[in-house]
Amino acid sequence: MPELPEVEVVRRGLERWAVGRTIASAEVLHPRSIRRHVDGPDDFAARVAGHTFASAERRGKFLWLPLNEDEAVTGHLGMSGQLLIQPAGAPDEKHLRIRFTFTDGGPELRFVDQRTFGGMALEPLEKDRHGVVVPSSVTHIARDALDPEFDVDFFHSELRRRDTGLKRALLDQTRVSGIGNIYADEALWSARLHYDKPTSRMRRPDTDRVLGAARDVMSAALAVGGTSFDSLYVDVNGESGYFARSLHAYGREGEPCERCGTAIKRESFMNRSSFFCPKCQRPAR
Ligand SMILES: [Zn+2]
Repeated sequence: MPELPEVEVVRRGLERWAVGRTIASAEVLHPRSIRRHVDGPDDFAARVAGHTFASAERRGKFLWLPLNEDEAVTGHLGMSGQLLIQPAGAPDEKHLRIRFTFTDGGPELRFVDQRTFGGMALEPLEKDRHGVVVPSSVTHIARDALDPEFDVDFFHSELRRRDTGLKRALLDQTRVSGIGNIYADEALWSARLHYDKPTSRMRRPDTDRVLGAARDVMSAALAVGGTSFDSLYVDVNGESGYFARSLHAYGREGEPCERCGTAIKRESFMNRSSFFCPKCQRPAR
């Protein structure tokens, strides 16, 4: 499942290869991939044709391409979605769902999605609670952890007010967006905080430490993802090199903690896993 750095890599690809180009046609090959567009595939195709992608935007894992000030094409990658730039006329991918061609006759933008949990839509642009213009499906999503405008004071006061487990709060996209399971475990390890620490007991330095750690690990992943990006092929799943080398907690059950040597522990958490050092990250008391 793509996390924020992978999605940012895709956004940069779209910025480079799709923005400024005028759509000649949009061909929907699987109706499920356009189910969020309530008026259906034909309406989608008719309404995007002739428009130019004005920019490529992202909040958390949500991507969108405004066509003008009123509406945007949104892309939800889901579990397996990919946005690819492919030469015009290249053979179709097995799981090709939507194809955009452009008036310049250049490379096509293709949405490929094996499991079809993702999809695209044309959505109105609206103001969120901060007054920032985003697609209607994104208005409830909080600014992401890498956004310089992210409001740490508000986030901290909400942690204290709405008591829950710390990792649950980090994964809650309405509080802070873009932190997925892997980054949460890595940030908690760096900040030496237990995943189930009650948020009502968070002190401000704890909040600063875990958010700072989340930003660091995501920025590092972005820096790596960004380097291999100079190609015509934009692939969300092709940027995993970072994880193989740099993880301290996630996926390391039984291996020694790099700080204290204690074996990393795995516990089940929200149908997934939490990896942590039982010594450095003491359970909440
Ligand atoms: Zn440790």
